[in-house]
Amino acid sequence: MRRDTIWDREVETETHTLAFARASAAWEKQFRHLMDHSSFYQRKFRSAGITQVSLTLNEIARLPFSTKDELKGAIDEKPPFGSNLCVAPEMVKRVYQTSGTTGAPSVLALTRADMEMWTTVGARTYFATGIHEDNSVLTTFGAGPFVAGHTHFVLSRIGCRSVPVAPGDTDRVIFGLKAGLADTLLSTPSFAQYLANKPEMAGSKGMQLTHIVTGGEPGGGIPTIRDHIQNALDVTVTEVMGIGDVAPSLFGECPRQQGMHFCGGGHVWVELVDPESREPMTIEAGAVGELVYTHLTREAMPVVRFLGGDIVRIEGSPCECGRSTFRMRVIGRRDDMFIVRGVNVYPSAILAVVGRFRPRVTGRARVVRKTSEVSVTPPVPVEVEVVDGHDADANLRAEIEEAIHSTLIFRAKVDLIPEQSFGDSGYKTRLTRNSLPRIGGGSGRGA
Ligand SMILES: [Zn+2]
Repeated sequence: MRRDTIWDREVETETHTLAFARASAAWEKQFRHLMDHSSFYQRKFRSAGITQVSLTLNEIARLPFSTKDELKGAIDEKPPFGSNLCVAPEMVKRVYQTSGTTGAPSVLALTRADMEMWTTVGARTYFATGIHEDNSVLTTFGAGPFVAGHTHFVLSRIGCRSVPVAPGDTDRVIFGLKAGLADTLLSTPSFAQYLANKPEMAGSKGMQLTHIVTGGEPGGGIPTIRDHIQNALDVTVTEVMGIGDVAPSLFGECPRQQGMHFCGGGHVWVELVDPESREPMTIEAGAVGELVYTHLTREAMPVVRFLGGDIVRIEGSPCECGRSTFRMRVIGRRDDMFIVRGVNVYPSAILAVVGRFRPRVTGRARVVRKTSEVSVTPPVPVEVEVVDGHDADANLRAEIEEAIHSTLIFRAKVDLIPEQSFGDSGYKTRLTRNSLPRIGGGSGRGA
């Protein structure tokens, strides 16, 4: 039996100086690997004026950012694996697909070493949430084709009992939980919230469930959502986050519930940049910025200074759990952000307000964007999912509008939508609905 509560104690508790030294050594090799094998990055670096044969981690901000669209372009340029495949195709041993909402899906190729890296980082992540070898975990993450399927390797590595259920198979999840097959549930926060709203889940005899780990979308870190799930199901909620192009599980929150620890030490280098100017920022408590990722050890399809699109608040370190890695909470997706009278707003802020109106609302809500403009003129259209019988509740509508106005300082026009009309599965909720034909691709989030 393993006694340590930290999966990779040496890496996860080291000082910033040691972490930087570890990353620097890996980066030097990685930069050579890119210059030798990635025609995509060779070209990109050259056009940014970088022609040298070595470049230290201290100088990384000289390199240009990479975007999701560019990576997709690299695939299209040389299918199936693209001009950023840095290994011989026969080295590729696993392929995941991403859920592009427009056009063909994109692919992610992994070598054996890349799979091992994802499993190592994933084991640190889930172990940090409190999943250890004596736990029994019901997971609703599918085995494929998406990167969240890699979680199955991670659970095997940790050595816990695994109870897999297909995504969306609610009956089997409820059966499994009520039968006492699992003490831990892995799901999206939308699905956890859906379970928490089901009366038959409360106080079931035989239930062993004590812990829900949410991932795949933000929500597990929003207090009104978290508190509701914790209270209704008598569980502890922690959350994980990953990015498909980087690692499917990269941040994990420990039971102290003070934000998600970075778990990619030695394999992924993270920078924080100003969301507007993209100037580097220091990763320190209170800083709000966009996370930027660089693979230090990925062999096939490594990314350099990849703009992940997640705007986060740094919660600082160290933590009582002993990990010295920084912690963060996601504020929102850059793509979901809009501006009302010069103030940046993320739809997750609206969820936090709407959640106060349970049990009349379910907790789900979304912003309707009528143009592709980032600036929205108030009143901002917001759709709120309500429990049956409340869709014509004018008082409720007025109360929510008032709460949004007093908390977020802008006017909203609320539409109450009954559960059967809200759309989306209960599994994952889009925080923005465009009433225009849409633009843009999937976020490729991991879990
Ligand atoms: Zn901790």
